[in-house]
Amino acid sequence: MKHRRHVLAQVISLLESRLPEHRRRAEAVVRRVLPNTGKAQRIGISGVPGVGKSTFIEHFAGRLADQGHRVAVLAVDPSSLKSGGSIMGDKTRMPGLCRRPEVFIRPSASGGTLGGVTTRTRESMAVCEAAGFDVIIVETVGVGQSETAVASMVDFFLVLMLAGAGDEIQGIKKGILEMADAVAVNKADGDNVERAEEARKDYESALSLILPPYRAWRPVVLTCSARTGAGLDEIWETIRRHRTALLASGELGAKQRKQSVAWMWDLVAEGLRERFYRHPEVEKAFRETAAQVAAGKCLPTEAALKLLSLADG
Ligand code: GDP
Repeated sequence: MKHRRHVLAQVISLLESRLPEHRRRAEAVVRRVLPNTGKAQRIGISGVPGVGKSTFIEHFAGRLADQGHRVAVLAVDPSSLKSGGSIMGDKTRMPGLCRRPEVFIRPSASGGTLGGVTTRTRESMAVCEAAGFDVIIVETVGVGQSETAVASMVDFFLVLMLAGAGDEIQGIKKGILEMADAVAVNKADGDNVERAEEARKDYESALSLILPPYRAWRPVVLTCSARTGAGLDEIWETIRRHRTALLASGELGAKQRKQSVAWMWDLVAEGLRERFYRHPEVEKAFRETAAQVAAGKCLPTEAALKLLSLADG
């Protein structure tokens, strides 16, 4: 097991490498394992910084491991796109999990574009599954496009929320709720239990206004405490019910097929980008062209057409 984890970490490092030779080797591994994947449970977990994601995952994954599951935890962190500060995905955030041989934790890939990180994470998920992990958790922060990206690569999307004033709930992004298969109001402990229950009801009524994404599943709202562990078993039970319902209705298969197509288009977009930036003519001209646009000497429209035509040549 230890050996396998080591190999897994190495393959993921190759996937994340910027050296084309490394990527080619890793992609060959992904191609080999991909046909035999698709059975692991893939769970996305999102929420704003401070909502309790790492505390939640630490206890949730720990419980699953106690039940005999092998759990991989990956992260998509938009702040890691720029080199430097990552606001999550750090192994030290889940000290209890790092020691467990049944759990594999990998911080977010960094650098490049969100599309690039998304692709790496999808590939890493396949490799984790091939290495024997049957539950794969992908963590992301509740900001921007990263949530949509994670929702597009998992079977179940859990949004962690906090109890807040009513108007805060009114103001939450509708888009997040539209992606949620379940919402859990975290920190329902101590003297926060009642407020959490009220928030739960508010989210429930907010969700009732949204057209459910499936025939066989209506998103549910729960409360939990990542700290005490209250409600975590119910969340796992909800994830299992969701899976059973969507398998029976055929909607899980349909969702996964749609995700495969989205993956293909993401790869096409990434390939085009790379081809463009690696093109020798473009490499020669793009700084100069950008400087001309910045200096007002060239229109952005003309500059873009010029660069694109260079890449065509
Ligand atoms: P993340 O940024 O979303 O990963 O959040 P963390 O897991 O780092 O938690 C942020 C803070 O909230 C930490 O101080 C945690 O101890 C605390 N916290 C997390 N979950 C709970 C909970 O269920 N109850 C309470 N009372 N505090 C919590």
